[in-house]
Amino acid sequence: MDDLGLYLHVPFCLRKCAYCSFYSEAGHKDSRHWLAAVTRQIRQFSSPRPLTSIFFGGGTPTMLPPEELSSLLAECRQSFSCAEEAEISLEANPATVDLLALQTLRQTGFNRLSLGVQSLHDAELRRLGRPHTAAEAVQTARLARQAGFTNLNLDLMYGLPNQTQQSWRETLAQALALRPQHLSIYELTIEEGTPFARQQEQGELALPDEDTVLRMLEATQQMTEAAGFRRYEISNYAQPDFECRHNINYWRNGDYIGIGPGAVSCVDGTRRSAAADVAEFCRRMENGQNIWTDEEHLEPEAAFRESVVIGLRMTDGVSLDELHRRFGIDAAAYYGATLERLISLGMLELADGRLRLTAQGLLLANAVMADLV
Ligand code: SF4
Repeated sequence: MDDLGLYLHVPFCLRKCAYCSFYSEAGHKDSRHWLAAVTRQIRQFSSPRPLTSIFFGGGTPTMLPPEELSSLLAECRQSFSCAEEAEISLEANPATVDLLALQTLRQTGFNRLSLGVQSLHDAELRRLGRPHTAAEAVQTARLARQAGFTNLNLDLMYGLPNQTQQSWRETLAQALALRPQHLSIYELTIEEGTPFARQQEQGELALPDEDTVLRMLEATQQMTEAAGFRRYEISNYAQPDFECRHNINYWRNGDYIGIGPGAVSCVDGTRRSAAADVAEFCRRMENGQNIWTDEEHLEPEAAFRESVVIGLRMTDGVSLDELHRRFGIDAAAYYGATLERLISLGMLELADGRLRLTAQGLLLANAVMADLV
């Protein structure tokens, strides 16, 4: 049976990072209303299909006490059946968890920890507005191991203001020395409405040039490969068998349930987003009103194109047979001359019934996908 994921959005952060456009509210908030509303939403769901992954993300889920996170996980397990080998991830920020909290979380069933490290240089962390130091990030990764997390992801970013090729290599080397099983490595993008967008407009953001960023990416590829990681998605690298099941389900355009304000659900071709405002979400839940602010039904052709574009993010690409089975569309015939052109330009390759980005195509993925979307 196909995978079914559950994402629970915890929309609280210590403070907003300067680059972040995710929906979250800064400062320590009383989470009681949110907790009651989210619990009610979980209880409304029922599915005959077992969950194959659960992901508590944010925001900063570890702003909540471990007991609240554990009770929410117990609610999820009561309302849904859970596959025995389900991957259960928790995002955490360094310095928001101690050993006891990590032990509690591990014992209650979280089996994967994703730590938002971003950089291991204090000056870069300060520039990003991160609420922790490099030493705290290293210490939290060690504590996670001590608490029994054997599946650890570190989030890192390159292309940061004032970052050099040398400082990125140092961050990556130190991160690899912590022996994570998984690395999510994203290039900084400047999102509208963030402090970084304003600083860029005013010429106050000294970003590395394109060539330096490209060399950072090349160094990433070399260093991760030498440490036994496989790049299995544009921005994700894993030790064998530690690919993130929850995210692979997104990239395969599978079904997922979103819980909490701002979370998106996509089940059986219908995609819905919940109100991205804690107070509004709680009010609607308490009054038994509709919490969805957006709803779209995906036509098979649109879902097919989406599956191609999202699926190409994975280095294994997409299976043409599987696309045909799901949507009844022959991708080679559908894209015709566009596909031939991208293949002849060396951006895409078609081998063993799979369409995938080449090494060159991975560097220009956005442009390739724009042609297929
Ligand atoms: S901790 Fe994460 S979600 Fe919160 S503001 Fe920073 S980047 Fe955004």
